[in-house]
Amino acid sequence: MLVVMQEGAPESQVQNVIDRLVMMGFTVHRSTGVTHTVLGGVGPLETFDPAEFEVLDGVQECHRIVSPYKLANKRFRPQGTVIEIGSVKIGGPEVIVMAGPCSVESEEQIEITASLVAKAGAKVIRGGAFKPRSSPYSFQGMGEAGLKVLRAAADRNGLLVVSEVMDRSQIALLTEYSDILQVGARNMQNFNLLRDLGLSRKPVLLKRGIAATIEELLLSAEYIMSGGNYQVILCERGIRTFETATRNTMDISAIPVLKQLTHLPVIGDPSHGVGKRTLVPAMARATVAAGGDGLIIEVHHDPDHALSDGAQSLFPEQFAELMGQLRLIASAVGRSIAG
Ligand code: PEP
Ligand code: MN
Repeated sequence: MLVVMQEGAPESQVQNVIDRLVMMGFTVHRSTGVTHTVLGGVGPLETFDPAEFEVLDGVQECHRIVSPYKLANKRFRPQGTVIEIGSVKIGGPEVIVMAGPCSVESEEQIEITASLVAKAGAKVIRGGAFKPRSSPYSFQGMGEAGLKVLRAAADRNGLLVVSEVMDRSQIALLTEYSDILQVGARNMQNFNLLRDLGLSRKPVLLKRGIAATIEELLLSAEYIMSGGNYQVILCERGIRTFETATRNTMDISAIPVLKQLTHLPVIGDPSHGVGKRTLVPAMARATVAAGGDGLIIEVHHDPDHALSDGAQSLFPEQFAELMGQLRLIASAVGRSIAG
């Protein structure tokens, strides 16, 4: 259920509502907006009568939320969530671009990539240090050494770091080096991992599972949020369908659908979405046109020798050209891109 407090309701009235909800067995999550405080209660809906709460001092309105996800629901924070990391705001007017290789492979690779993506206007460098590979014989990532390299290059170039956490045992390490913890498609329903990330206070980039519905994605976000970590960024990265012309089927419609259903920022990953370098720019442009809050794009200085996902990694010049096009599209839809 949701209780929307009146504009400027004093703390004592907010606290009174919280106390009553807690007494009835609800766990209360509070969202403080610019004008209104919204209280989201998760608990025994059967015994809950909105009319009883609507007469309390300071309460504007009260709703049962029948949707299975409550905290991720747009109604919990109709103004939208903006995730602020240093000077970078994800979910605000600026479209945020994250770029870099699929995997961290060497210090030289990351140094070259960090400086070129920063020059082109990216705000975040990506790179997996722990890689979920389909084959156990494929390159599995550099681990902590890779995270160190990423952090140093990001700091030198004024970038943030996003890197994947594959298992709950890696959360502490990723927290030390990365600004955003990525949950990969294969882990979208690793509920133990999601619960532990709910206890973290680091922003989480949650990718849509390879066969997950939009509702399942939102329920996975709810796992993280129910632990108190509201800093979740959702990512459409393509789903598996009968189509074989592309690696996955990038569901562009998921972007406006998610923007209607949730207050969380939504970004697109055209690289995994299509799996082919020649198709990535079109899907990146489509993501911005569709209202995406950002992009995560694979870029490699020498894609033909990449240890993973070379075929879908853009050449640096292609990335720079794409950024120019994205700026034009962003301004056409009332957004902007730095650079
Ligand atoms: C990645 O970002 O390199 C990756 C493995 O992505 P996904 O989990 O979407 O496949
Ligand atoms: Mn990849």
